Amino acid sequence: MNGLQRQPIDLLVVGASEVLTCDGSGDDSIGRVVGGVVAVAGDSVVAIGPESEVRSVVDPTGARVVDALGGVVAPGFVDAHTHLVFGGSRVREYASRLTRTKEETIALGIPVGILATVEATRAATVADLMHAAVPRLDEMLAHGTTTVESKSGYGLTVADEIKLLEVNRLLDQSHAVQLVSTFMGAHDVPPEMDRSAYVEQVVSEQIPEVAERGLAVFCDVFCDEGYFTPHDARRVLEAGLDAGLAPKIHAEQYARTGGALLAAELGCASADHLNFARTDDLAALAEAGVTAVLMPLIDFAVRHPKPIDASRWSEAGLTIALGTDMCPGGYAASMPLAIQFACRGNGLSPEQALLAATAGAAHACGLEGHGRLAAGAVADLQIWNVATLEDMVYRTGHNPVRQVIKRGKVVLG
Ligand SMILES: [Zn+2]
Repeated sequence: MNGLQRQPIDLLVVGASEVLTCDGSGDDSIGRVVGGVVAVAGDSVVAIGPESEVRSVVDPTGARVVDALGGVVAPGFVDAHTHLVFGGSRVREYASRLTRTKEETIALGIPVGILATVEATRAATVADLMHAAVPRLDEMLAHGTTTVESKSGYGLTVADEIKLLEVNRLLDQSHAVQLVSTFMGAHDVPPEMDRSAYVEQVVSEQIPEVAERGLAVFCDVFCDEGYFTPHDARRVLEAGLDAGLAPKIHAEQYARTGGALLAAELGCASADHLNFARTDDLAALAEAGVTAVLMPLIDFAVRHPKPIDASRWSEAGLTIALGTDMCPGGYAASMPLAIQFACRGNGLSPEQALLAATAGAAHACGLEGHGRLAAGAVADLQIWNVATLEDMVYRTGHNPVRQVIKRGKVVLG
């Protein structure tokens, strides 16, 4: 009936074993639609469902038809936490630390830690940083990631932090993967200043400049022993809020210092790491609606002494987001591997891990139209070469991604 009123579309994905909408609808938590099709017009999803139903409301004349060949269709992954843009490489440190202590590594003349990357990043040009970051983004896209949160924090001067955020902007404009830019001048204290003087510079010089230039959405701080105190973090995040930057925080990663309670008090978009968070910290975060970001691959890379039981996070009622934490200290681009580790290592179910990698991560990034497939959502999706979510989780190290669609356009495969 009413064929004339059917909505014209540009793209139709058919042949899926199942479409995982992750939009909170349906009989299960991930919105599994067995044998579903996805119709896209422009950069948005217009309909999802059984093929006969969708074809009754859309007009596919002239549309590109993509055959999922019996694989899963899922939302593109949102990587909720990365330090994507940096100069130099810490591969020698990583290799040495597999069998040596930090002190033994330094004694060999190998530069270590965030400040080693700061030195290399300050020496790098925008072109150098782009050249290094693009292959990382390519690798992320090949693993199904369509949106990446990317933090500054290896410049630690006004000019070098701006340089990193400019690279974020250029990458967002030029690469198929979308970037969400986070200012993190308070990542470490630079060698030329003491901590309180540096916090003052972040608050009074860096944040106003970043905000003035519109280079970031979020403001983040490394609140931990040996980095910034909760008092410092409050100053930085409140200055960010005053300048229009939404707060995020690295909290309770190596010690419990109070970052989680600060995140709850300030209403942070996310609290990230949380290895040492107590049950009352988790309850406060859940009560305040702060998303908790889980990063199994960095805990693997640093062989973290306090593994996370994320079943406690879900029991506390937290929204969970997943990230790779791609950074110089732990080079990881694969969200499928992060999901596999989150399930086996952190106690999430396949459904919980997928939601964390899609809708949960989008929530942590303030992108409600992303990370789910529903009418009106952004048409970011991926097609896998396996028939079920469980097959992907089962095959450790397997990259299931065969095709990626970003804003309605096929950008991979
Ligand atoms: Zn981080």
